[in-house]
Amino acid sequence: RPSSFRPRMTAIRSGAGVDTINHVLTKLQKECATPLPVLRHVADSMANDMRAGLAVDGGSDLKMILSYVDALPTGNEKGLFYALDLGGTNFRVLRVQLGGMDQRVIATEAEQVSIPQELMSGTSEELFDFIASGLAKFAEKESGEFQLSQGRNRELGFTFSFPVKQTSIDSGILIKWTKGFAVSGTAGKDVVACLNEAMKRQGLAMQVSALVNDTVGTLAGAKYWDNDVMVAVILGTGTNACYVERTDAIPKSPGKKSQSGTTIINTEWGAFSTGLPLTEFDRGMDAESINPGEQIFEKTISGMYLGEIVRRVVLKMAEAESLFGNSIPEKLQTPFSLRTPHICAMQQDTSNDLDAVGSILFNEAGIESNVRARQIVLEVCDTIAKRGGRLAGAGIVGILQKMEHDMKGVIFGKRTVVAMDGGLYENYPQYRSYLQDAVTELLGPALSEKIVIEHSKDGSGIGAALLAAANSKYKHDF
Ligand code: BGC
Ligand code: MG
Repeated sequence: RPSSFRPRMTAIRSGAGVDTINHVLTKLQKECATPLPVLRHVADSMANDMRAGLAVDGGSDLKMILSYVDALPTGNEKGLFYALDLGGTNFRVLRVQLGGMDQRVIATEAEQVSIPQELMSGTSEELFDFIASGLAKFAEKESGEFQLSQGRNRELGFTFSFPVKQTSIDSGILIKWTKGFAVSGTAGKDVVACLNEAMKRQGLAMQVSALVNDTVGTLAGAKYWDNDVMVAVILGTGTNACYVERTDAIPKSPGKKSQSGTTIINTEWGAFSTGLPLTEFDRGMDAESINPGEQIFEKTISGMYLGEIVRRVVLKMAEAESLFGNSIPEKLQTPFSLRTPHICAMQQDTSNDLDAVGSILFNEAGIESNVRARQIVLEVCDTIAKRGGRLAGAGIVGILQKMEHDMKGVIFGKRTVVAMDGGLYENYPQYRSYLQDAVTELLGPALSEKIVIEHSKDGSGIGAALLAAANSKYKHDF
């Protein structure tokens, strides 16, 4: 992560030039604006880029990855299954006892471990050893309510939330890391093999039966309860979406067949970049990131980046005028000191003197602020959250339009559910309502009524376990 080479305290330029705080704010709001024509252009471009990505490999920013998930859980799945979810900031382990159609989920147990920062830039072995050891400790604590069928090995659904070129339902090659991960020696390797080797080193006997992206796990998990689910979206540290596609509508994979005639496509929409309203702050952040030029949509709308964009804007304001005190605090100059949970928390402050905003600014960015300064910071937060939420909404509409266009009636002919997960969506009410506003504006009242965006909390864990069950190595007894 780029560090700041500035001195501890920087004297403020006296006498503001053109870049007064108001100039910075007005320009920001203008450049981040997402009126209907901008949203429409983004939605249409998303649909076009999806088609181009389905046509040929490398056909667009969107990789449109075949998930090899051709059959979604039916409800008949039975037995003990594990899931492992490696996401952005933590990894989760889960076990579930599935009871078939009548009993469904009999018991679940889960644990979450945050990933130490240094492992995100260490070696592949270090990361996978850490994960496998967490999984092994969890597996040891299996109690009586969980029953492994006789003669079986424990089976695992592995949710791996990074772009992977799947080679089968239980193998796939890491294309690249995202979300601040820079682990060496994994790109180009089969991540299931990496996990298997680490499990072996831990002496853990477990069989990976399904490798899935978190969006795919979420779709499977949500569809288990509600058959109207057609799309799944993650808005957390990173972002992505997957959806149900017809196998005969994937030109780059002409032989593709499945019993249902459909399959799940992982769009990897975080890499989308067409027609986005970007600013100097976005470009600066991208240039200093560990993956410059990549994941532009993700950098504009997802949780890892919103706080950092705000920090960059506030830093520029602090340099322009002394509203934030007479010197520029070192913390404010430190990349990622202000994070999305902070800007979200600030936006929940509705008091007159904005005390909560004041203390967050002081604690996280070293800023001593008066009420006017706090109000301005809130405007910046709102501008960035609004642009993010509305663009995410436009992306969703793009996917729905593409599906409806190719499969008339499938989306707007009835109720359609978009399963949603991720901390950003879950915890940021303003972001969530901006997203919903954009969907409603784009679709109009009649059509948007048919679209239900439903929070499917931690659905990807159960989803991965269900897909492990559906793809069990053992003869199905259901
Ligand atoms: C990854 C996706 C993942 C998404 C949400 C992105 O950075 O590329 O594979 O689904 O984050 O976790
Ligand atoms: Mg996740």
